[in-house]
Amino acid sequence: MEKISPSYDDIHYIVKDISNKVIEFNPDVIIAISGGGLIPARMMRTHIQKPILTVGFQLYDKNDTMMENIKKTQWLDDEIIKQFVDGKTVLIVDEVDDTRTTLYHCVEELKKCSTPKNIIVSVIHNKLKLKKKLLSEDVIYIPGKEIGDDWILYPWDCN
Ligand code: 5GP
Repeated sequence: MEKISPSYDDIHYIVKDISNKVIEFNPDVIIAISGGGLIPARMMRTHIQKPILTVGFQLYDKNDTMMENIKKTQWLDDEIIKQFVDGKTVLIVDEVDDTRTTLYHCVEELKKCSTPKNIIVSVIHNKLKLKKKLLSEDVIYIPGKEIGDDWILYPWDCN
């Protein structure tokens, strides 16, 4: 698999571009999918000045092998949902849409426990490949850069 290594600058411009599109939908809150969505969500907050909530999912185990079932590692409590999500336009942010499994589960979990007015899903990179899951049709999907099935080494992954 090819590897690509976008710089912070590259990501900055992609985030700016995504934010310009997202702003048209006037989101009330940003939900970052931990850990990959944390830095992109914070970068987006510079443009979309709204609070950030965090949820977590784990799809790969400690050996980097895809697990059979995705694991929810962090979620929103009822008070937070009432205050920030119900009746609101929610922007879900992750760094990359690979198989789409994580985004799908995040949207489905959100719909199970809350009543958002609109759900927007945004990622820095979307890999153009056969997806394992589909997002429901009411979701507004705003990807940044579309790429092939390459492995992305993000600047925050480098040690
Ligand atoms: P999914 O297959 O559910 O779309 O992606 C699951 C997670 O795998 C992503 O949120 C991300 O953390 C990780 N992932 C998938 N592809 C890549 C990649 O190319 N680079 C990095 N750094 N993480 C990836």
